[in-house]
Amino acid sequence: MSINASGWRPEAPISGGKASPTTTGNKALMLEEALIFEIGDTTTTGVDLVEPVAATSRLGDLARTASIGLPGLSEPETVRHYTRLSRQNYGIDLGFFPLGSCTMKHNPRLNEKMARLPGFADIHPLAPVQTVQGALEVIQQLAHWLVTLTGMDSVAMSPKAGAHGELCGVLAIRAALEARGEGHRKIILVPESAHGTNPATAAFAGYSVEDIPATADGRVDTEKLIARLGPDVAGVMITNPNTCGLFERDMRVISDAVHAAGGLVYCDGANFNAIVGRVRPGDLGIDAMHINLHKTFSTPHGGGGPGSGPVVFSKALSPFAPLPFVEKTDDGFHLVEEETAGEHHAGAFGRMVAFHGQMGMFTRALTYILSHGADGLRQVSEDAVLNANYILRSLDTTLDAPFGGSGPCMHEALFSDENLADGFSTIDVAKGLIDEGFHPMTMYFPLVVHGAMLIEPTETESKAALDQFIVALRSVAERAKAGDVSLKSAPHFAPRSRLDETLAARKPILVWKDPGLAQAAE
Ligand SMILES: *Cc1c(COP(=O)(O)O)cnc(C)c1O
Repeated sequence: MSINASGWRPEAPISGGKASPTTTGNKALMLEEALIFEIGDTTTTGVDLVEPVAATSRLGDLARTASIGLPGLSEPETVRHYTRLSRQNYGIDLGFFPLGSCTMKHNPRLNEKMARLPGFADIHPLAPVQTVQGALEVIQQLAHWLVTLTGMDSVAMSPKAGAHGELCGVLAIRAALEARGEGHRKIILVPESAHGTNPATAAFAGYSVEDIPATADGRVDTEKLIARLGPDVAGVMITNPNTCGLFERDMRVISDAVHAAGGLVYCDGANFNAIVGRVRPGDLGIDAMHINLHKTFSTPHGGGGPGSGPVVFSKALSPFAPLPFVEKTDDGFHLVEEETAGEHHAGAFGRMVAFHGQMGMFTRALTYILSHGADGLRQVSEDAVLNANYILRSLDTTLDAPFGGSGPCMHEALFSDENLADGFSTIDVAKGLIDEGFHPMTMYFPLVVHGAMLIEPTETESKAALDQFIVALRSVAERAKAGDVSLKSAPHFAPRSRLDETLAARKPILVWKDPGLAQAAE
């Protein structure tokens, strides 16, 4: 295949090997782009570097003898290469992102403005504490609001994502049990309606996981859960609202029973945007819960930025929370980096990270909280729930809604592949949606539903945006119900057509090999 430096490949195939309708492979503004290894050249560079002064290598035998072979491009070619690739990407600033459980919502630009203030953006984690008092105050204020909104006792700010926060919470539970001399409690109960990270976390922390089945209405089977409690159970991990998009109404009863049996209660609070301002987890008897700042409090994620998963703790677990903490005294803000005997951090189980957590996300989340205020945050959860119910009721006559009869949903609507034509499944609907210009919903999760399609619209979508999505999904679903075979090879209009995902998973090609060298070797 001939490739010139600008990536122009005359015979480049598009869409899964089908011949391109154009000579270039480009389709108007949608430009084909080759790999940088295919278009770059080891002798090209965007910068002029002075020849290095000859020096004796101290690497001995370890010194590299062959060229490293990294491709180079000129500066304008580099800019175009990455800009073209970025245009083949889908993001929240481009369109609706219905991924269930992911809370892909608009990231307010005010947050970005605040996070870029040099006093926050340009500081170093090792800067002397007296020079970063403002940053510490941001961490302390955000901590205050997270504790207030959840009705809990304390918060560990450092975990860097939801799953990292889960590990933090379970390690605190383990430390509390060991401090009580009950380290022999080795089982964590996890309902089927919990997020997949919950059992993974419990197992990673050294616990055995036991499933608790869901009831026919999509909630945890409270009776079965209570019946399983005993002296070998360390605690439970419950996602609330759960991954069927439903509120676990028995939470208080469950917490009381777990406590009475000597266990502790972990709540996966990633979906806190469905209840913020309405329900305080502290009132439900929860001992530890992570909050995804990158979901509930609108900080960017999914390629747009790192996550942040602070964990709030009950009074019982607070002594075991990890370091560091920011504390305020009369002479300013301090970082507590070590356990202090007899003080309230005496039992800290250790640290989750080297420094203090995701400062940029703290600034954004605090901006979001303060700019919304108490009434605004309550409206966030109301709108999130209203939007999800609008989707559920607009589509439940087209698609099967397995828990549609269980009353209103919370922040996400769940459908199954039940009434699609024979041979058609959720993946066909998802791929058809790509042709309609939408990111697919969460697929085949939760596992309690066959061919699950989990849709979370979030509160930041307008009714007009929801209506467009509903029309698109309804039309694709109707095609899948009618057995329209063209859907089986969708997407047809994306830069690449249907990929062989099984082959990609089983035999991934993770390293680019120079086809010239490969040929020479043969
Ligand atoms: C997103 C999510 C998680 C994991 O959070 P990460 O930040 O991706 O690690 C856990 N539980 C639920 C319910 C979630 O939606």
